[in-house]
Amino acid sequence: MAQMLIGGELVGTRSGATIKVRNPASWEVVGEVPRGAGADVDAAVTAAAKALPGWAATPGTKRARLMHEAARRMHEAVDEVAKLLAQEHGKPLAHAKLEAGRVAENLEYFAGLADKLRGDYIPLDDPAKFGITMRRPVGVVAAITPWNFPLTLFANKLCPALAAGCTVVLKPASTTPLATQRAIEAISGAGFPAGVINTVHGSGSEIGDLLVSHPRVNKVAFTGQTETGKRIMALAAKNVTRVTLELGGSDPMIVADDADIRRASAAAAIGRFFNAGQACLAVKRIFVFEKVAEEFMTKLAERAQKEWKLGDQFAADTKMGPLHTEHQRAEVESQVADAVKRGARVLAGGERPKGDGLDRGWYYPATVLADVPYDSRVATEEVFGPAVPVFIVKDLDEAIAKANATVYGLGSSIFTKDMAKARRAAEQLEAGYTWVNDIQVAYDQLPFGGTKQSGFGKEHGVEALEGYLEKKSVVLASG
Ligand code: NAP
Repeated sequence: MAQMLIGGELVGTRSGATIKVRNPASWEVVGEVPRGAGADVDAAVTAAAKALPGWAATPGTKRARLMHEAARRMHEAVDEVAKLLAQEHGKPLAHAKLEAGRVAENLEYFAGLADKLRGDYIPLDDPAKFGITMRRPVGVVAAITPWNFPLTLFANKLCPALAAGCTVVLKPASTTPLATQRAIEAISGAGFPAGVINTVHGSGSEIGDLLVSHPRVNKVAFTGQTETGKRIMALAAKNVTRVTLELGGSDPMIVADDADIRRASAAAAIGRFFNAGQACLAVKRIFVFEKVAEEFMTKLAERAQKEWKLGDQFAADTKMGPLHTEHQRAEVESQVADAVKRGARVLAGGERPKGDGLDRGWYYPATVLADVPYDSRVATEEVFGPAVPVFIVKDLDEAIAKANATVYGLGSSIFTKDMAKARRAAEQLEAGYTWVNDIQVAYDQLPFGGTKQSGFGKEHGVEALEGYLEKKSVVLASG
């Protein structure tokens, strides 16, 4: 059974209670973790608080060395971690390997920044005095992550936190804790002092509130649903704990009449069907200009039918595994059914697959919908599965207005050869990211984060470090 890492020790819970982890393709149990309780949260936060002064005072060069060593160990553990991830999540093994490798890359990126933190010298009016600013770690970080990209999303929090000198208590999603726990054990084997990195497992509804409102937690870094984020923000207010919230999205893609349709349809398919559509940054609503609408929809439907083969996550030709839970599939099915009831046409997918061993898991095919009313659920809600509505628009004004008609503001994209259109979209789309003629892929070097109800705060880029640092002013007067 996997355990929790608390104060440098691998431990279970006192009660002995556990959570079973299942393979969504077969519903078989693939592992177990302790079902943490309040005492475990308290122990992990206390361990992190105890380790904080020492880690904050550790020279940046030493923090960087440990992080590089952690990256090396993570590279070595990729195959083992990826297998656990594919089993517990349902994603194809090749994609799980990519994700595990990204943890090592993220460690390397932030290791490169750990010894480059510095402040400013600020002259004051009084010549006998001057000011400086110092960068101090914010303290103990509670990192709470979802199940869709368990590894990249914990790395997005752990790596900048470690580089900044913070200590961390990580709570992974209770349906995908195994790969995260194994990755953390590989990372912590690099020799971080006890208590710098801790994990607690357990149900968010049972221990989440305790973790977020613990008086010794100084920052909550959360990724998950907007509704959970709102609750966390309210709870964090109790101790004025700072929060970073990476929440839901409903990213628009605009396809103008001068777009390269082959490229746009490929980007739409990858952007929507990768990870079986269970991605925050994903093409969730498409607005295509009338002149190219037929061609684009035909091409996208073709790709959905031919290129996104469903299957067991360990089969070499599988492009899409099952959805992660029964609830997740039921939700997508009911969103599609709502659109169809209101008159939408199904251009591809739309029905559970049968045979080939697909009846057992929570499989759902790549689905493309046309003639979708704007008030239907696929247009107004986040669709966290492989279904996408395509809307026809007359021009860029209409596309941008419709794209912005959502509470979300995470990613967005436009396909056009006209730089004026691209620039206007980049300026006017209400989102944290705009891709022009490109697939929605986040880069380590570029700050990533939402606007509106997609949250606030940045992950990736040097900007991510800011979320884990305080700027303190000091006045020095000549004695
Ligand atoms: P979720 O239900 O909000 O859960 C996320 C994490 O929060 C899990 O670890 C969960 O634990 C925990 N949690 C649940 N209730 C809690 C509480 N009261 N206090 C503290 N923690 C609590 O989200 P999800 O369904 O796993 O993830 C899918 C969502 O994440 C989608 O909306 C997606 O768009 C969003 N997402 C956003 C980004 C981004 O960067 N913006 C990236 C990826 C995903 P349990 O697992 O034990 O319930």
